[in-house]
Amino acid sequence: MKRTPLTRGEPPKRTTGLTRNEPLRRRQVEAALRPKPKRKRRSITTLVRDRVRERSGGLCEARSLNLGGRCSGRANHMHHRKLRSQGGLDQKANLAHLCSNCHTWVHSNVADAVALGLIVPGYRPHPTTPWRPPRASR
Ligand SMILES: [Zn+2]
Repeated sequence: MKRTPLTRGEPPKRTTGLTRNEPLRRRQVEAALRPKPKRKRRSITTLVRDRVRERSGGLCEARSLNLGGRCSGRANHMHHRKLRSQGGLDQKANLAHLCSNCHTWVHSNVADAVALGLIVPGYRPHPTTPWRPPRASR
């Protein structure tokens, strides 16, 4: 049988339902179909979370400082003093139970938060004792 250019070789595999004239589109479709690597997201264990809640009594641990003048008093955020991006661990000593407003303030005022010990820079050792607000100077 005489081969013509149209029948030469094996027919293209059409696993994507696309023609081979669409290499870019095919790559996009194949990328979308490829199973994505599961993101490993650490989460604070219930045990540690409960211990921190016990410590705070559900109240913002920075409430005496009223950071930014907007402390709501009710803690609903677990703040990592040494940030997770800096290797901070989900341990009681590294966690401060904050209200969302104080938490926002901490991450918006890093230098002040470092001075208060609410942020521990990457070059400093990991916290081993829980955070306490500095005593009011009077
Ligand atoms: Zn607060």
